[in-house]
Amino acid sequence: MVGLNLENIGLKLDAKARIEVNNNYLTSINNIYAIGDVIEGPMLAHKAEEEGIAVAEIIADQHGHVNYNAIPYVIYTHPEVAYVGKTEDQIKAEGIDYKVVKFPFLANSRAKTSGESEGFVKIITSKSDDMILGVHIIGINAGD
Ligand SMILES: Cc1cc2nc3c(=O)[nH]c(=O)nc-3n(C[C@H](O)[C@H](O)[C@H](O)COP(=O)(O)OP(=O)(O)OC[C@H]3O[C@@H](n4cnc5c(N)ncnc54)[C@H](O)[C@@H]3O)c2cc1C
Repeated sequence: MVGLNLENIGLKLDAKARIEVNNNYLTSINNIYAIGDVIEGPMLAHKAEEEGIAVAEIIADQHGHVNYNAIPYVIYTHPEVAYVGKTEDQIKAEGIDYKVVKFPFLANSRAKTSGESEGFVKIITSKSDDMILGVHIIGINAGD
């Protein structure tokens, strides 16, 4: 947000020059909302989209809400990177007892026959109740 002189109109930025918002995506100015890349969080399209829907609902006096643990992120590189939920580091930091299952594309016959055997699928679950906490995939069609 460098160069837009947002501070001149009283819009508060954080230490990383992102626009500060409250839980309803309202900025420090009471008729300006912000979502997506200009606020905290991954600069990825599906997050911006979910926040956009939520803020439209909030402005329409409904109950807009984003469950950040359920946004499927895709980075359209080759091979693709896709994830949903938390990373292993985040889960560790929260002190949750967890299990990890990892499966390489190399052991997947379809990936092998199409010559796209680079990558893996990693699923992290809660040790106590098997709840899925995070899924991370790197490989062909990971986003699918
Ligand atoms: C090269 C590249 C590759 C990417 N790859 C991926 C990917 O693989 N996966 C993924 O999920 N995300 C990817 N992204 C990120 C994704 O595009 C953004 O996270 C997403 O578009 C953010 O949405 P947004 O609404 O916050 O911002 P934007 O989509 O950037 O929308 C902001 C809009 O505001 C307009 N605007 C800017 N300044 C002004 C102004 N002063 N006045 C009026 N209008 C203004 C812009 O023209 C634009 O239309 C990529 C981005 C780039 C640049």
